[in-house]
Amino acid sequence: MHVDCGTLVDGDGRVLEDARFRVEDGTIVEAGPREEIDTEGDRIDHSGAVVVPGFVDAHVHMQGLRTMDPRDWALADETACAARATADCRRLLEAGFTAVRDLGSSVALGLREAVESGDVPGPRIYTSGRSISQTGGHGDAHFLPYEWSRGGGLGISELADGPDECRKTARKRIREGVDCLKIMTTGGVLSEKDSPGQAQYTDAEIRAFTEEADRVGIPVASHAQGTEGVLAALDNGVDTIEHGFYLDDAAVERLLETDATLVPTLAIMFRIVEEGADHGVPEYGLRKAEEAFEAHVESTRRAYEAGVPVATGTDFLGPELIPHGENALELELLVEEIGLSPVEAVEAATGVAGRTVPDDVGALTPGAHADFVVLGSDPRDGIEAVRDVETVYRAGERVVPDR
Ligand SMILES: [Zn+2]
Repeated sequence: MHVDCGTLVDGDGRVLEDARFRVEDGTIVEAGPREEIDTEGDRIDHSGAVVVPGFVDAHVHMQGLRTMDPRDWALADETACAARATADCRRLLEAGFTAVRDLGSSVALGLREAVESGDVPGPRIYTSGRSISQTGGHGDAHFLPYEWSRGGGLGISELADGPDECRKTARKRIREGVDCLKIMTTGGVLSEKDSPGQAQYTDAEIRAFTEEADRVGIPVASHAQGTEGVLAALDNGVDTIEHGFYLDDAAVERLLETDATLVPTLAIMFRIVEEGADHGVPEYGLRKAEEAFEAHVESTRRAYEAGVPVATGTDFLGPELIPHGENALELELLVEEIGLSPVEAVEAATGVAGRTVPDDVGALTPGAHADFVVLGSDPRDGIEAVRDVETVYRAGERVVPDR
């Protein structure tokens, strides 16, 4: 088939008027100005619309959670979580998100299988499985008896300490078939007894994770908020920095030198600071989010202005405060708060976010999955156009019909 577009934003730096791309077996085979591309197969006419690659949210949790208090997460029934996460999959697809990188979930591996087999409509899921934290770290359920928390008290994470145990836990994830690893090299906001500035894991522990990941060719993402934990992650081979609240010039320089991508996850921070108190975010979470908020925005701006690749990631989990389906908020915040142009924000949500997963998503270029979104208005006239989703295609098949 071939698809005629009014405007094509290809996710790889090109914006073309009167464009066309051709799809074979769910994959893009050529794309460019209309007169240069063959008209083989059926014609799909979007010649009056803006076509962009399917959006990628590079930091989500497909855990079907519905409250903001980690105490509830520890008690949540996993089968109910999985069932609710299937509804979240549909919401993501309807919002134009055709791929997500899940960075901490106990149900995402099964969900990935159900989506791939066609039983559940949803985005492509690339998952770390459970994230990995040190004892007392960001992924620990500090309020539970240690024995309960150790193997996965919060559902979305488990604990490992010392280089040997870290290595073994990485191997357990790889054995499960994960697409990446997710570790925690600093404390965080929604963990009771640590802080975003506190570094977690030693160099040797971080290296144990990145060495095992390198052996099988998968990337490592680190929850890293304070400067020290960001630098430790980068110095020891981590590929993406999640959150990055406190990035000084040295940290920005190091991000550039190591070719790392920043996934700032502004959306969850804005939602917690603006409305978290009404949605049951614990007092310690509200306090820590407010403390870090300004630095977080400034750090993201500093990294963007220096040329660090910035990918969209919402850190959405499913509760009403941070629901799947409203993930386009991150694109809006990148424009309104950080200063990206609308086309740059679309690229952050397509090409840049797509490069955080080991697959060819997020671009309408030869070899990529033919996942694309038809917008009812032009993002260049206002970023809110990314919510004006008319039609969504995944692997060249229409999955969300015209409204
Ligand atoms: Zn997260």
